Amino acid sequence: MSRWVLGLTGGIGSGKTAASNWFAQRGLVVVDADVVAREVVQPQQPAWCAIRDRYGADALLDDGQLNRPWLRTKVFADAAERVWLEQQTHPAIRDAIVQQLQRAQSLYAVLVSPLLFESQQVQLVQRVLVIDVDETTQLQRASARDGNDEEQIKRIIQAQMPRAERCARADDVVNNEGDLAHLQQQLHALHTRYVPLAQPSSRTL
Ligand code: ATP
Repeated sequence: MSRWVLGLTGGIGSGKTAASNWFAQRGLVVVDADVVAREVVQPQQPAWCAIRDRYGADALLDDGQLNRPWLRTKVFADAAERVWLEQQTHPAIRDAIVQQLQRAQSLYAVLVSPLLFESQQVQLVQRVLVIDVDETTQLQRASARDGNDEEQIKRIIQAQMPRAERCARADDVVNNEGDLAHLQQQLHALHTRYVPLAQPSSRTL
């Protein structure tokens, strides 16, 4: 793939969507791995069929869509089930992401993914930007947004890559403890650096 792609990641509630909205408003193509992940498990897709065959009707709603709360509880309670589910979905997600990135017509493209490192999607990007907040902020913002119970959010944080490791693997880290204006200022400064990096001429040097 020849296109220059920024990978955007961070823990639950860190502000990935807030950041990716900023890039989209600048005209950059944003591919959201969460959106793609929903597309590949639509009824009758291969991953949907595998999930139905393993778990039966419990995993489905009346309209045939996946019962996401049921599946979430299942895989966060049992690591082996999480691995199995990822094996069914990750290759299809990756293929669809590659297609969307290849079609992108903008100065560079952004791949936003909560599992950028864990799912090997990092191989699809030239640079990684982590949106970082501490666990207290993650809990506050994610529970205010979703009305999720804090225990569930804590379990998701535990299942995700530790914060220090995520930041250590990043090329750039934006601290999102401040307000949205502060986030956007930092993104603007980074975007100014990314534009020349993404020029084909600078990539052949
Ligand atoms: P998830 O991994 O759960 O999808 P996310 O990383 O995409 O989360 P967002 O949805 O962007 O996180 O942010 C979580 C919540 O915090 C949202 O309600 C968002 O509006 C809010 N938020 C994000 N950044 C800030 C900020 N700097 N100040 C105040 N609220 C913020």
